[in-house]
Parts: sequence; C-alpha cells; structure tokens
Amino acid sequence: MSKKFRRLHEVLDYQALMRAHVPPPEYFESDYLIGPEAIEKRQLERLKKKVAAAYQVPFYKRRFDAAGFHPDQVKSLADLSRAPAYRVDDIRKSIEANPPLGDYQGASLENAAEEPLRVYMSGATTGAARPTLYTHWDREAGAILTARALYAQGIRPGDVVINAWAYSTHNGAFSMDEALHRWLSCVVLTTGTGNVTSSRRQVELARQYKATAILTTGDYLLHLADVAREMGLDPKKDFNLKALPNIGDREKLEETFGLPVYQSYGFHEVQWVAIECPARQGLHVFEDAFIAEVVDKETGEPVPEGTLGSLCITDLYKTGSSQVRYNIQDLSALMPREKCACGSWLRRIAPFAGRADNMVKLRGVNIWPEAIGEVALQDHRLENEYFVRAVRQAERDEMIAHVTTRAPASQYEEIARSTEGRLKERFGVRILVEVSAVDSLDAWTEVKTAPKPKRFKDER
Ligand SMILES: [Zn+2]
Repeated sequence: MSKKFRRLHEVLDYQALMRAHVPPPEYFESDYLIGPEAIEKRQLERLKKKVAAAYQVPFYKRRFDAAGFHPDQVKSLADLSRAPAYRVDDIRKSIEANPPLGDYQGASLENAAEEPLRVYMSGATTGAARPTLYTHWDREAGAILTARALYAQGIRPGDVVINAWAYSTHNGAFSMDEALHRWLSCVVLTTGTGNVTSSRRQVELARQYKATAILTTGDYLLHLADVAREMGLDPKKDFNLKALPNIGDREKLEETFGLPVYQSYGFHEVQWVAIECPARQGLHVFEDAFIAEVVDKETGEPVPEGTLGSLCITDLYKTGSSQVRYNIQDLSALMPREKCACGSWLRRIAPFAGRADNMVKLRGVNIWPEAIGEVALQDHRLENEYFVRAVRQAERDEMIAHVTTRAPASQYEEIARSTEGRLKERFGVRILVEVSAVDSLDAWTEVKTAPKPKRFKDER
C-alpha cells in the first residue's frame, strides 16, 4: 500500500540545513566570523528568493501591488526598503478577514500531510493571538538559532537543563526544548512554570540533576533563589548553574548567582534574532537568517545608523510563513558594521529600548494595557474608566489595573478579586486590581482635560 503522506525525515535534508544555518558550536568558529562582503552577498541571494516567494502569498501580493513594488526591483540590499512594511495591526486585520490563520501564511493546513506543520500562537495577551504555521524546516532552522543563543549564554552539549517556560500554544518553551534536545544534546527537564511544578520542586530537581541552567524569566529565577534560601541553600554556591536568563534585572541576577547575564532579542513569529557577545557592545544579528532595519516610528522611513527607531525584521530562513519587513515596533538602533572585539562582523543592534506603541512586558509576557482594560471592564458594576500602572514591588514587576464603580465601598474587595481572577485566566499572569469611586482616576487618565485619555504609566 502506498502512503499518501510524508514523514519528518522525508521532508528535510539535514546536511543542506546545516550548511544554510550552521549549528553551534561550529557556528562560532565559522559563520560567526566571516567578513562583511560574504555576509551581505549571501543576504542578497536569500533576499531575492524571499521576496519572490512572499509574492505568492496573498497578504504580501496585495501589499506589494498596492505599493507598486515588485520582487524584481530588488538588486541590492538597500532595495528592500522599497517593499512596504507592515505592523501587528495589519496581521490582526488579515486574521479578522480570514479566520483563523489569516492570509499571511506561506503554508496551508490542506497540505499538512505532505508538509508536516506545527502551529503556535503569540501570547493571547493582545486582544487576538497571532498564529504562525511552521514547516519542519522552519522549526529546525529556528531551533538552530535558539541553540546558538543558549550556547552563547553558557549552556554546553550534554548539560542537564530545566525548562521552566510554559509549554502551551506559544512556541517559547518548545523552541528551547527543540534547540536543547536536537541541537545541543542536552537533557531537558520539562518542569514548565511554577504552576505545573512547584518552586520547591524546581529547586530540588536543579540540585539533584546538577542543572546548568533554569530557563525562565529573570524574575522567576530570583524567586527560586528566595525559595532556595528558605530551604537553607546559597544560590551562588549550591547550584551548578552556568547560564542565566536573557531577560530580567541584570544587576540583581548577576549578584545573586555570580554569573554574567547576556541579553538577546527575538519574537514569536521568527524566534531568535540577535544575541549579545562577551564584549557587550550591542546584540549581533544572525545575518544568515535575518535582515534587521531600523525605521522611523512615525513615518516608517529607514533612519541613519545609530538613530533610535522601530526594528523592522525580514527573515531569510523560513520556507513556510515568512516575514518580509515586519515593523515589530520594538525600539532599537542599528550600529555601523564593524569588527567587534569578539571577532564578529555581524551587524549589531542596540538592546531593546522600549516600545513604539505602549505594549508592556510583565514577567516575560507581552501585554497591551488596552487589552487589560477590555477584560477588566466586562464586569457590569464597573464604570467605563481604567488606568494601568506597571510598578516594581518587592523586587518583582507588578501591574495594577485601576477601575471605578458606583457600588458601595463594601463591595470593592469582592469586585477586585473577581476581576483579578478574570485577568489571570485571560493573560496567564497575575495582575492586581484596585477599585475606587467614580472620577477618582481623572488625574491619571486626564479624561476631562486631554484630547485622548491616558491609560498607562510605567513606574518601574
Ligand atoms: Zn561581539
């Protein structure tokens, strides 16, 4: 009987994959050190194929045509800026018009038997989760990029590593898992978050298995340090850690564990984009897999090197759902191409410098204050006013949603608790709620004095 589908090992040429995107540790002895001409020559070859492939996808075809751009116009890397950029709103509109996947995917569920796929979604924290279809090539190439980042942080082949990210519809935990297992031959303890495996148990496992890393947010790792101290342990001496998380309070983490923190940059649709090297002079972009541009946050026009603007990312590795000029609205700056103290010519970007819109990162989760307001105000007892504050309390990032009601003060407590429950269910992280009387937020929202009410303040 002939089968009418292809299995994973039949769809991927591993030798070709490893030539296109070299895995660590070889990467750091080879591609990481090549010169500027070689970097840009390969980028241009891959870019030409990328825009041609994107033109076959309805979302890109529509946008390219409307902007008068055709893939044939790409003769140099600079020509990329002639293609229209898009933002998260454009993806949301595409999903709304073509649920559930939108029309920006370069792969389709109809062909899943021939082209094995995975689907992951951005955190459901922003109104609507954005799905991305990943081909097997995209998963593996993405895992190689992730493996490079984990290697650069200090993880080595054969290590035992605890993965305390949430295994969920988001690809974060899976990307780390695939990178560690398939490309670094590490043993992964799949603990998941503190809700799945208690913090005490995470500490015990890290000790018993001599884990060299606990992959999670910086805040949760600092919490584990507290738990370890309660258990009579010294976080600096009683663990076998070699690597720390890429996000969180750098100073505090380094002081607590006595190890360096290396930053990195990536996002849901494309996984890992850039990593910090020991020179700590910016983040090197994996230029075999990406072109990073920085554009003006208002006009979308490319800005000069060194100027702060929105990152605009084009991937050069995906065969499924590609990103061509995705203005991700994370603020950074492009540094001039020059040889770094680490020996690499790979283009560097400045570390994450905030958002061009007002998305907020809370303990590693992206949240729009507007989405918090939308969920909080579902309680009919609440007035149509809210204000969200991000604060630092007891060495932990917290978000407080302030809401108002005409109900008597005796009900405030109950309203706050039930709203907190709804927010937790929706966003997966704890968001505190404070209830107060009608009009009590006016000084913050400026609802009676400003043309557009304010909804958020970052006080961290
Ligand atoms: Zn460097």
